[in-house]
Amino acid sequence: MTTRIEHWIDGAPYAGTSGRAAPVHNPATGAVIGEVALADAADTDHAVARALAAARTWRDAPLSRRSAVLFAFRELLNARTDELAALVTAEHGKVLSDAVGEVRRGLENVEFAAGIPQLLKGDHSEQAASGVDVHTVRQPLGVIAGITPFNFPAMVPLWMCAGAIACGNAFVLKPSEKDPSASLFLARLWKEAGLPDGVFTVLQGDREAVDGLLRHPDVAAVSFVGSTPVARHVHATAGAHGKRVQALGGAKNHALVLPDADIPSTADAIVSAAYGSAGERCMALSVAVAVGDAADPLVAALAERLPGLRVGDGTAPDTDMGPLITREHRDRVADYVARGADRGAEVVVDGRKADLPAEGWFLGPTLLDRVTPDMEVWTDEIFGPVLSVVRVDTFEEGVDLINSHTYANGTAIFTRDGGAARRFQREVEVGMVGVNVPIPVPVAHHSFGGWKDSLFGDTHMYGPEGIAFCTRAKVVTTRWPDPATSAIDLGFPQTR
Ligand code: NAD
Repeated sequence: MTTRIEHWIDGAPYAGTSGRAAPVHNPATGAVIGEVALADAADTDHAVARALAAARTWRDAPLSRRSAVLFAFRELLNARTDELAALVTAEHGKVLSDAVGEVRRGLENVEFAAGIPQLLKGDHSEQAASGVDVHTVRQPLGVIAGITPFNFPAMVPLWMCAGAIACGNAFVLKPSEKDPSASLFLARLWKEAGLPDGVFTVLQGDREAVDGLLRHPDVAAVSFVGSTPVARHVHATAGAHGKRVQALGGAKNHALVLPDADIPSTADAIVSAAYGSAGERCMALSVAVAVGDAADPLVAALAERLPGLRVGDGTAPDTDMGPLITREHRDRVADYVARGADRGAEVVVDGRKADLPAEGWFLGPTLLDRVTPDMEVWTDEIFGPVLSVVRVDTFEEGVDLINSHTYANGTAIFTRDGGAARRFQREVEVGMVGVNVPIPVPVAHHSFGGWKDSLFGDTHMYGPEGIAFCTRAKVVTTRWPDPATSAIDLGFPQTR
């Protein structure tokens, strides 16, 4: 049975007029389970016009009211986490516990944004000059568009919309067309929480909808999360159209394992971070850089753990790892394994030969050893259940290898040596660093973002930088002069 997945405009489902649609699949079976509307220019114009109208009144909503809506939304999201997680699993394929985890991490952003009265307090300087006070306010931008990837259909929209709405903007979400239903679930919860119609919009679509938003004169800013080529395009196009833009791209996250690391717990951490969500996480650890004597025991410990991972339908309670998002992507990942082997990588565990369900787009966990920086399995983001081990002789060689990569989203060091860990966090050129923490996704009161080809733009997402992104500063200089002291003075105003 297929369901029609529509847009959400002005607080209600909207069918659209484009006549375009795309199938939505359950990757665990390969079956078509829905059909999502794909917006054209007319749908995009309609969505943005309604969002702009809503932004004009929502910007005046008192901070206490905005906060109350966010608290109500938080309660609803918390109460209905399992329903949302089930929707995520049905269209994405990740296991249910992982989907619950994604919703809970998104919830943190709502909780942070509920403190908006505190976050927007601004600064005040009394007597900045004689008789002059100066204060800064942060005001909303208007309509902010959010364009999100398939791999976190609930969390990444929540990263973006909670702060944007709390700051007094209207938010237009363009979710991934591969798993679009979570966005409509969020829309219904916002409405139930008391958010005025039009403040949260869902525009379903593909490249056509994205390009429409990037060029639209009434879209003030664009938050994007997805692959690097598209992030680059979004940054360039939105920038050329005068918009504020933050575009988060792909990743290749390395774990540096020093010889003094506790190998069993390090192997547990790396297996969890490499194969969780079938490696389809922007913070997945996809390369283990083993220093010196760490290599042999680490590879043995990793290999020993992989046969124990249960691959299957994410709705089954005992599954550890679900399918990949599409058949094409599964085949592309398998092809990387073949090319790695051709170039001389040692296939220690071959997920292509795993015992896998007959239906659906599965690939077993794969471990490659003796990977070198000239191989595509090291240079490219594979985005699947493939972990590469690169062997190096020294700490310095490991850090240089990590710093030579074009992606710089996350990284982690595994060691018992505090001095080495401190040196690593200072010298590594990566935006998010873990010390014995395999997936260092910052908590909501810090901000999320990589460096180099993992982020285009100046601000990281959510947290304090998210609040800065979603507002513009205005500085007010005030004087209440005594008419008796008034005089004409054509000199440039001085403060002393
Ligand atoms: P994607 O770039 O294919 O798609 C992202 C969004 O852009 C989707 O909404 C899609 O509809 C749209 N899009 C796709 N092609 C487009 C085009 N040519 N022009 C305009 N819009 C287009 O990414 P994906 O496959 O959905 O997600 C996986 C990627 O996202 C991986 O590279 C992953 O590392 C990255 N990601 C990064 C982060 C991060 O925080 N840095 C987080 C999650 C995912």
